[in-house]
Amino acid sequence: MTTLLPKRATRARKAAVSLAERLLTPHGIDRYLELVDPLLVRSEIRARVTHVEHPTPDTVTLALALSRVWRGFSAGQYVRVSVDIDGVRRTRCYSPANSQYGDPRTLELTIKADPNGLVSRHLHEHAHVGMVLGVSHPDGAFTLPAWRPDSLLFISGGSGITPVLSMLRTLRDEGYQGRAVFLHYADTADEVLYRDTLTDLAGENGNELRVAIGYTATEPHETGADVHGLFTPEHLDAVAPWWRDAETYLCGPPGLMGAVRTAYTDAGVSEHLHTEEFTPPALEIDTANATGTVRFSRSGQETANSGDVLLEQAEQAGLRPEHGCRMGICFSCTQVKASGCVRNALTGELSAEEDEEIQLCISVPVGDVDINC
Ligand SMILES: Cc1cc2nc3c(=O)[nH]c(=O)nc-3n(C[C@H](O)[C@H](O)[C@H](O)COP(=O)(O)OP(=O)(O)OC[C@H]3O[C@@H](n4cnc5c(N)ncnc54)[C@H](O)[C@@H]3O)c2cc1C
Repeated sequence: MTTLLPKRATRARKAAVSLAERLLTPHGIDRYLELVDPLLVRSEIRARVTHVEHPTPDTVTLALALSRVWRGFSAGQYVRVSVDIDGVRRTRCYSPANSQYGDPRTLELTIKADPNGLVSRHLHEHAHVGMVLGVSHPDGAFTLPAWRPDSLLFISGGSGITPVLSMLRTLRDEGYQGRAVFLHYADTADEVLYRDTLTDLAGENGNELRVAIGYTATEPHETGADVHGLFTPEHLDAVAPWWRDAETYLCGPPGLMGAVRTAYTDAGVSEHLHTEEFTPPALEIDTANATGTVRFSRSGQETANSGDVLLEQAEQAGLRPEHGCRMGICFSCTQVKASGCVRNALTGELSAEEDEEIQLCISVPVGDVDINC
């Protein structure tokens, strides 16, 4: 009897909501809930900014309170954050930096303002307490294995610290007792994000976490850095001589990612390296030999194929298709290709099926293509 009561209450609540939904058609209950409080909306996740901090001149850290539909995340994953800028909804990916434990309805994001970027600059300049953002459910496979390895190495640079810090904070909350080293790079001492947090993490739980910082734009005698200059495999030998045996998690700017990948490949241990990219890779684009016409059938636009990815061509045609990462990770630019052939600019794979879903940001038309966009 006691276990039935909550179930009955839930059923009654669902029936009441469904009745309200029908009575309030065509707008639906969310339209009205939104007016009371945007975080009450049930069809999508909303977040309210509760704290804003600028840890360095070009970054902003936001604490977010999430609506009830949020179901949590695993350390290392990312969310798609949407914000209205000049009346247009813009979406970008950001990796929470907080532990996957703790308050289940809060997120901490740290965003580096790209001087030429739209969303990061907007949030850096305009985010304020009370601002409401859209947030997706978490995504991504850059996560720790369920069975935590005995030896872990984390490497990050700049704002790439966020998913890695989330992993470290999560391990701290689990009381991880294995061997772990975190090697983080910044240009100078002033640009190290989360310095106090890192000092605390290294001293907690009596664990074996060692934090090593590298400065890439400072003379060795000017700082107390653990390693100096751009990444070399010798840095790993210095801070974690056992690195070849450790599962390694890497996130940072393209130069750092490339150098670490090469070190792991040369050492024959690339299967131990797990990576997350924040910036799009250089895509193979051949604009000189492009042929055919691209038709965006829903909007009635047509353009000569420039050989660029479809997202760029749509934008050049004045369309504003939804997108996030611009690098084939987040799938928010997925649209249906009614007909024609496209080449995946990451893999080179051709695909000519009708009515198939493709990602506009990495698909290049090969001849005539019709997109339902
Ligand atoms: C999985 C994932 C997680 C991420 N996590 C974080 C995080 O925790 N913190 C963080 O700071 N960032 C993170 N990012 C990066 C973030 O998603 C954004 O890419 C970043 O904030 C820049 O967005 P923006 O809107 O400011 O720049 P955008 O407006 O998207 O521009 C980015 C760059 O592209 C150039 N550009 C824009 N449009 C064009 C065009 N049409 N042609 C040529 N060049 C163009 C701009 O000059 C600019 O330099 C993550 C990315 C991914 C994929």
